[in-house]
Amino acid sequence: MDQSFPANPYFLLTPGPLSTSQTVKAVMMRDWCTWDDDYNLDVVQDIRQQLVSLATTASGYTSVLMQGSGTFSVEATIGSVLPPRGRLLVLANGAYGKRLAMISNRLGIDTLVHDSGEIERPDLDRLESTLKKDRKISHVAVVHCETTTGMLNPIDELGKIIKAYGKIYIVDAMSSFGGIPLDMDALGIDFLVSSANKCIQGVPGFGFVLAKRNEIEKTKWYARSLSLDLFDQWKTMEDFPGKWRYTSPTHTVRAFQQALTELAEEGGVAQRNQRYQSNYEILVTGMSNLGFTCLLPANYRSPIITSFYNPDEPGYDFNTFYESLKSKGFVIYPGKVSVADTFRIGTIGHVFPGDIENLMEQVKTSMSWS
Ligand SMILES: *Cc1c(COP(=O)(O)O)cnc(C)c1O
Repeated sequence: MDQSFPANPYFLLTPGPLSTSQTVKAVMMRDWCTWDDDYNLDVVQDIRQQLVSLATTASGYTSVLMQGSGTFSVEATIGSVLPPRGRLLVLANGAYGKRLAMISNRLGIDTLVHDSGEIERPDLDRLESTLKKDRKISHVAVVHCETTTGMLNPIDELGKIIKAYGKIYIVDAMSSFGGIPLDMDALGIDFLVSSANKCIQGVPGFGFVLAKRNEIEKTKWYARSLSLDLFDQWKTMEDFPGKWRYTSPTHTVRAFQQALTELAEEGGVAQRNQRYQSNYEILVTGMSNLGFTCLLPANYRSPIITSFYNPDEPGYDFNTFYESLKSKGFVIYPGKVSVADTFRIGTIGHVFPGDIENLMEQVKTSMSWS
């Protein structure tokens, strides 16, 4: 097989799709039959098992894969695990938290939102007093790494309160799973959602949900959608091992398996986290030496993506800066915060400390305004 590919013209310093290895892309060069064991058992079932072992060391957890981008898996989860008379409390502090509430409202689910603003963490006292008063709340959902800003939410402290009141705990760990160590059993998480094209470093096309087995088992007939019926998708994958209900993104799925192999070869999630952490530290040190300021205080930040203020200089223009960096091999990301004028740089994907050092050189030569 000819495995030579054109080199990527630039690194994607974005939170997904992100830069992937040539070997992840190479395994997509063959076709798969969706009812054959070569695919269902050797690829899909293997992935499902590997995901569970990345999520926890405890038993009693299972996984389900779902076609579409990450949002489809979030919508499948919210739409399928809330019972008809459930009430969802969403803890929001950015665009992805707001999206959880938007999905829930759109599905006609009774939804309550605690919005702490884009640059603050969820208020633990407010959460506790609300759960104490409002007995109708059945589920609580939060984003782990709020990709809008790069803020890391305290899923451990939140989980303690949520579990103390016996609520089902849903976490959107889209941009953190595989890049930040966690154990969903220790954290009390019942449903955790992520996707192929984030920290596992696969290509886009599907998402996945890790679930506490005895909780997903209770959700039969709750789904408000056919194609996004999480229970039915899971049950099919269980009863006909590895079978998806409708056409699956076979090439993407095979690429994801290779990405999991490469994650293990790197040394697992802890090692990958160290690489992202090194990328992040080189970025933040380099950028602050060049006069850039981070939006968030250090204790709120993640090694996933970092928000910087756009320089308040008359000659500065984000698009000019962006195009200059792009021509030098790095694609950065516009800001998404409404309370401040920012841009973002991601440090996840097939990107290494040497690449970020190189980026710092290119940022320096792209500062035409100073
Ligand atoms: C990427 C991401 C999503 C899903 O986005 P898609 O564009 O649908 O893949 C959801 N939540 C968070 C926190 C994300 O970073």
